[in-house]
Amino acid sequence: MKTALICGITGQDGAYLARLLLIKGYVVHGASRDAQMASFSNMVRLGIKDQVKFHSMALNDFRSVLQILAKVQPDEIYNLAGQSSVGLSFEQPVETLESVSVGTLNLLEAIRFIGIPTRLYNAGSSECFGDTDHLAADENTPFRPRSPYAVAKAAAYWQVANYREAYNLYACSGILFNHESPLRPERFVTQKIVAGACRIAAGLQDKLHLGNLSIQRDWGWAEDYVEAMWLMLQQAAPDDFVIATGQTHSLEQFVEHVFSALRLDWREFVESDVTMLRPTDILVSKANPTKAKQQLGWAARLTMPEVAERMVQAYQKDEGQ
Ligand code: NDP
Repeated sequence: MKTALICGITGQDGAYLARLLLIKGYVVHGASRDAQMASFSNMVRLGIKDQVKFHSMALNDFRSVLQILAKVQPDEIYNLAGQSSVGLSFEQPVETLESVSVGTLNLLEAIRFIGIPTRLYNAGSSECFGDTDHLAADENTPFRPRSPYAVAKAAAYWQVANYREAYNLYACSGILFNHESPLRPERFVTQKIVAGACRIAAGLQDKLHLGNLSIQRDWGWAEDYVEAMWLMLQQAAPDDFVIATGQTHSLEQFVEHVFSALRLDWREFVESDVTMLRPTDILVSKANPTKAKQQLGWAARLTMPEVAERMVQAYQKDEGQ
């Protein structure tokens, strides 16, 4: 029976990954910055809270990382923790850099210090690529980060690559493109659209204010993506992989799918708000996930239209609409 430690277990991916690993027979430990105070609502929602052993661990505090790793002695560590909002990273750049890159460095150092033969998955991000000028990014595409979040993720990516090379650690980064689910908080634009549209359909809201509708992203389904994380740690040798659907859509198309799932015309309800534009934003994000398909045997099952529909259905069910 393998033991896994999920850092950032209270988030969207942490909850789905915990469920996947429990199904696979793992003993699952989960770390949150404050396990006494965290609500664990995502795990309650998935019905798995009682099956996970929780720990308080602050990734930016080396002592706390060392202590938990020495105690749990995990076979696999999944680092999903850190400030994960691109928008918020412009407001909290230091917090973002510390939680993402110092946090990853502390994990790598603690693994090296304790000397346990653990395997590490690190949550990288497609944001590192920046604008690829309509070219589909793969594992060889250079990083041109355009936000404090992306800069922090790029630093963490190179830390992982360096420790793999220098100290022979089994450490991988998944360069994941956007992936969504009903567990996404409303801070993220997809859930903001779903929640707003459902409230409009229920007569509880009049308008939905959004920023730039012409940005293009590759949106997948979070449950598919946590499977790719697990697969990365089951290979003969560690490596980095781009994880995406390979299909890019505009935010306007996402909005259209959500409103049409509710039989509404989005043009009547969506208003553009220039105050919501970010200082710098990626216009087009495109992915080439061929390596993951060839080497991991992984491919996304759901693409954007199904993701949008499932999020609408889940929101309506939750709200009793
Ligand atoms: P979430 O934001 O849902 O979860 C991240 C977890 O990290 C939180 O539950 C929280 O746990 C912890 N956390 C939040 N802020 C901080 C902070 N300032 N310092 C330390 N810990 C913090 O993220 P997701 O589940 O959506 O994503 C998982 C990982 O994958 C993240 O690293 C994200 O950046 C990355 N990623 C996500 C993508 C996506 O589309 N979802 C795309 C590409 C990468 P607690 O409060 O319990 O400590």
